[in-house]
Amino acid sequence: MKFSELPLDERLQRAIVDAKYTTPTPIQEKAIPPVLERKDLMGIAQTGTGKTAAFALPILQNLLQGGDSKGQKPIRVLVLLPTRELAIQVSDCFEKYQKYTRLTSACIFGGVSDLPQKRALSRGVDTLIATPGRLLDLINQRVVSLKKLEYFVLDEADRMLDMGFIHDIKKVVAQLPQKRQNLFFSATMPPEIIKLAASILRTDPVRVEV
Ligand code: AMP
Repeated sequence: MKFSELPLDERLQRAIVDAKYTTPTPIQEKAIPPVLERKDLMGIAQTGTGKTAAFALPILQNLLQGGDSKGQKPIRVLVLLPTRELAIQVSDCFEKYQKYTRLTSACIFGGVSDLPQKRALSRGVDTLIATPGRLLDLINQRVVSLKKLEYFVLDEADRMLDMGFIHDIKKVVAQLPQKRQNLFFSATMPPEIIKLAASILRTDPVRVEV
């Protein structure tokens, strides 16, 4: 299979060509079609498998379906990650894939001043890539609102739990609208992760393992 065979917007296809991707990786081949169909997804995959594009490309496609909005736009996508490094990596991918569109993103994480992050958010972004602590901080400061969220991605869920983020994740999820599409990724699926996934995903998610 080739990327050009997937029902992705020409603006995304051009960015994929620029990134020099020709063939979707197994996780991309399995995950992109159900995400485009607005299904919830449970992905069991490690970093390095191409899982970022597996969720970012179909989400961007779904956002483009609604058309570019004008004026102050609400946050429509949240990607939650355990570390600053992972957040920056995923943010770089979104920027690369959306560069021919008018879709925008911002990345927020702790350990640095929140001023540049607040400035980036004040312009309005479609996608927010975040670590849990700084996200809750900016929600409490009323800088971030997730009331209009449509897509929630929880990435590296097992590392999130190892790092003690379970309560923060629950607080974030409590802020989200009930009606949303959820994508849940973890390298391993121990019982606590299955329980967390069940509390976030709608019933009968598509399960993809690579
Ligand atoms: P990830 O697992 O998302 O961290 O991706 C690992 C690396 O593979 C990143 O450098 C991506 O840019 C690259 N990559 C993702 N999908 C493809 C693809 N279909 N073809 C070639 N490289 C890819």
